[in-house]
Amino acid sequence: MRLQTRMRLIRLAVIAIAAPLLTLPESGKASEQVPAKQIFGGIELPSRAAPAPYGFYSKGCISGAVALPTDGPTWQAMRLSRNRRWGHPLMISLLEQLAHDAPKVGWPGLLVGDVSQPRGGPMMNGHASHQIGLDADIWLTPMPDRRLSAQEREDLPFTSMLRKDKFLTVDSRLWTPSHARLVMLAASYPQVERVFVNPAIKKKLCDTWTGDRSLLGKVRPIYGHDAHFHVRIKCPVGASGCKSQAAPPPGDGCDKSLAWWFTPEPWAKPKTDPKKPAPKPREIGISDLPKSCVAVLKAPSVPSEGEVTYSGGATPVAAYASAPVANTPAAMVAGDPADIVPAEVPIPLPRPLGQ
Ligand SMILES: [Zn+2]
Repeated sequence: MRLQTRMRLIRLAVIAIAAPLLTLPESGKASEQVPAKQIFGGIELPSRAAPAPYGFYSKGCISGAVALPTDGPTWQAMRLSRNRRWGHPLMISLLEQLAHDAPKVGWPGLLVGDVSQPRGGPMMNGHASHQIGLDADIWLTPMPDRRLSAQEREDLPFTSMLRKDKFLTVDSRLWTPSHARLVMLAASYPQVERVFVNPAIKKKLCDTWTGDRSLLGKVRPIYGHDAHFHVRIKCPVGASGCKSQAAPPPGDGCDKSLAWWFTPEPWAKPKTDPKKPAPKPREIGISDLPKSCVAVLKAPSVPSEGEVTYSGGATPVAAYASAPVANTPAAMVAGDPADIVPAEVPIPLPRPLGQ
């Protein structure tokens, strides 16, 4: 059975299990028994609603998400079976903008990893954040000069930029100036609030970046993120349900806060009492998420992915053509983000190449 068909069947099975529980959040108990990640992970399409993030990057959901097309002139979406190409239109348009601009800094195109699930929310595996359609992962592997098959997009291994034989050090055989320019390009858009990279990559940028140093402050060191980087955009203006994060502290971040990562402390195993195993962390339930997320889960789906596949880039969908604001940073200062995507379901996009 094809991988995607199999994943679809698994998702349908999860929906079948979870669906009766969707009626229960108000009544309490039973909904608590199903982790939110199982319910959100089983839903195949976004809600038919105006786009709106609810909650925080690591605890929330999104209504009216749109899909990044699997293919564009300078991007290819990866790991399609995960069904995580969904985001706020501002996030998807940022990805298309970055893909469009990448060749100008010597990066041929993007391999795009996870954005969010169709209605956001916690995931069965992989991320704490990415829950409100405002986070996206981009591989630190340049797009090849051919279209990858769906299977290749599942199988292509991640390539860490770190040396295996040396603590927290970028491998200079793999890391190139165009890697640096791509990460810094991502940080350059005003709507981007943070770009997460491995501490070794941040250090490399601190040591070598000769462009605008003020943008380095947005590039934040974090565990992992050695084979991909993570772009986070601000809450859209007017999105009252979206909980903002404080702006990164001023400065380039090439300071004590970075030096800390090169001490044993962040890497030390947590001290545990062998007689008393640490309690399992409690699963996030629906009731832990903003109340609006219950409505997001219950809302009717859009008819199909094709009808909400976003393209604000080189080949605009007619329905979006009247809303060019979504493709510019100006959108961040525009009015209600609900205006960005028409309330009516947009015109379907032809199936992308090679899928
Ligand atoms: Zn990420």
